[in-house]
Amino acid sequence: MRLKPLLLLFATALSAAVPTPKDHFGHDMGADRFVLDWDKVVSYFRAVEKESPRVRVQELGKTAEGRPLIAAFIAAPDTIQNLNRYIEIQKKLADPRLTPLAELEPLIAKGKSIVLITCSIHSTELASTQTAVEFAWRLATEDKPHFRAILENTILILVPSLNPDGVDIVTQWYRKTLGTPFEATSPPQLYHKYVGHDNNRDWYILSQPETRLVVGKLHNVWHPQIVYDVHQQQANGSRIMAPPWLDPIEPNVDAILVQEMNMVGMGIAADLTAAGKTGVSVHAAYDFWEPSRHYQSFHAGLRILTESASARLASPITIRREELRENMLGYNARERSWNHIEPWPGGRWTLRDIVDYQLIAMESCLYQAATRRDDLLRNFFKVGQRQIARKTPYAFYIPAKQADPGAAAKLIDTLAAGQVEVEIEADNSHTIRMSQPYSGYAKALLERQVYPDSRLYPGGPPQKPYDVTAHTLPMLMGVDVRTLSRPFSLAGVVAAVNEHPGRLCASDTDSWREVTKAWKINGAIWRDPLTGDFAVTSQGQNWKQIKRPRIGLYKSFMPIMDEGWTRWLLEQFGFEYTSVGNLEIQSGELRQHFDALIFPDQNASSIESGFAPGAMPPEYTGGVGAKGAAALKEFASAGGTLIFLNHSTDYAIEQLGIKAKNVVQGNPDFYSPGSLLRVHLDRTHPLCHGLPDDIPIWSEGSPAWDTDEKTVARYPDAAILASGWLLGESVIAKRSALVDAKIGAGHVILFGMRPQYRAQSYLTFKLFFNALLYQ
Ligand SMILES: [Zn+2]
Repeated sequence: MRLKPLLLLFATALSAAVPTPKDHFGHDMGADRFVLDWDKVVSYFRAVEKESPRVRVQELGKTAEGRPLIAAFIAAPDTIQNLNRYIEIQKKLADPRLTPLAELEPLIAKGKSIVLITCSIHSTELASTQTAVEFAWRLATEDKPHFRAILENTILILVPSLNPDGVDIVTQWYRKTLGTPFEATSPPQLYHKYVGHDNNRDWYILSQPETRLVVGKLHNVWHPQIVYDVHQQQANGSRIMAPPWLDPIEPNVDAILVQEMNMVGMGIAADLTAAGKTGVSVHAAYDFWEPSRHYQSFHAGLRILTESASARLASPITIRREELRENMLGYNARERSWNHIEPWPGGRWTLRDIVDYQLIAMESCLYQAATRRDDLLRNFFKVGQRQIARKTPYAFYIPAKQADPGAAAKLIDTLAAGQVEVEIEADNSHTIRMSQPYSGYAKALLERQVYPDSRLYPGGPPQKPYDVTAHTLPMLMGVDVRTLSRPFSLAGVVAAVNEHPGRLCASDTDSWREVTKAWKINGAIWRDPLTGDFAVTSQGQNWKQIKRPRIGLYKSFMPIMDEGWTRWLLEQFGFEYTSVGNLEIQSGELRQHFDALIFPDQNASSIESGFAPGAMPPEYTGGVGAKGAAALKEFASAGGTLIFLNHSTDYAIEQLGIKAKNVVQGNPDFYSPGSLLRVHLDRTHPLCHGLPDDIPIWSEGSPAWDTDEKTVARYPDAAILASGWLLGESVIAKRSALVDAKIGAGHVILFGMRPQYRAQSYLTFKLFFNALLYQ
């Protein structure tokens, strides 16, 4: 931990030239009503890099909208000059097969704790980008003992925003509404081009450029021991929340990591309290289940996350004690308890307060990484040893013959992008042996989830999972994957997938194109990947050419993540579409322009009436209204296809008069919080082309119907749960999950599922695509 005196002198002399945040931005970080422009954030980090030998900036690539995504490496100058040396050390520590035990302690002695801090993935949680600016400046210019320890013993990889596009979207909206009645409202658009707030649900499927870049160029290269993701929560809970997490903990996360996360989280809480900060909660709000939110904890890294209380974007607020929530999950925000030991008394709360808390939390996280460096590195190695020693199962096996080879290739690519070693056998089948460093990651994504029956109290209502409960890729993708319990002998491994240059490319799209080719609309012809034939449009015909459908996708003023995911899917698979707003729908004559209109997963009132008058500037209020409903009926009557996904189906029933009763609505016994459920398909129906008789579908409290209309998918009478968690199975037993209703010459398709779930459900993509082509 001793900093060489000469270097210290050198760094101090140079620090005077590093511009302060105020010099660069014209404001101190956290000033009331001050928001950032992304280009100025990038130019600030570049200016610091220019003047400080402790900082190096890397552009990882471009965001969905083309902005630079950057990371700043911060460490002692001699570390910064030799970053490649530390990449090599990390590589050896990450894979114990590469490292004879005799080399371990010398490696640890030479190594650094790698800490990745990622800010403002959620763009309305805007403080942490300002915190990152100030923290980088302080680390570059101050020489206090804690910072010396940090600079000498760690490499900080600081990502000032995981979503730069959103920084500008929120900043521009905030400035537009500043001083109006709408100051500090959320923008009426997704703050990520495709996925909005769901950008922290992408961390195994890696569908978006930001996720691919950060995993491909930081996680997979640097193997960080700690990844700290900085978030904000509501205004009326604790002031900041840190780990430990609530149960359940995904069974494939190594116990060493869980213990260390609890330790570092409690260390952050202790340091905040010692610094005089009140309202610190731990063991609250979040479980530790879904890998979609935390790549690192399946790659031997600690998942640290804090949630700070929000102000109103950059506008200050005042909260009285009695406005603090009593029923936060795990604690009462007004009362003292072991996990919320010193409540915040209420008062004024500002952006600067959030920045102050986050600065302490970042320093605490890094100081712990510095002082416990040896143990962190040794345990990191041990986690790898324990993964390699996994005996059960022996392997997963993916036969060469698959119903959907494109989906199988995508599944293999997904695993390979997560550094899972996949071997190609001589017969072109694939094997994933468990004796490898990330076997737990592969196992989590390939096995069936058994979510524990979690209750708020014994016999009480279910404790809501923070996200969803199932992530079984073979079921989502419709890929035949088998579990092998013991060693076996095949004709012989010919190559590892990971050595294929086109595959280990989490950051490029070439492999994507390869995978999706089979499902693309090729000119005006639809290719069935099951048969290799061209589109089958009705029973009994082998194939016929069909017209490229003219597709409209409903886009309300309310930002709907499922709308973004749907756009993404259509683009990836080569469907052309037009976004259709309230005015376009109301103007009528829809049939002249469209063959199919899609309504993404959103509630009926958001379609019918949108933002209420007074909630947003007038140009963003309202929905399709009565005029829109009449136009939609006319569209269907004239032969158009209306496609309603998941909860938007309520709109079709309420406003278009489709005769179906949603048996789930208002039924407290039914609970499917992101689960895979089995249905039986009517394979004589055109929507089912390319699919087997029985499939799992994605249900998130999804509707199920009693209806006399044509049922295309139906729940069986028992054994409905395929993966995840389900309560109240009998409520949906034998009910319809996919309905084809008629209006005049057209169809209204009700999907009681999310068939295009978060870029993952390749199996039911087919149902959705078939619906687009249904005429
Ligand atoms: Zn967040």
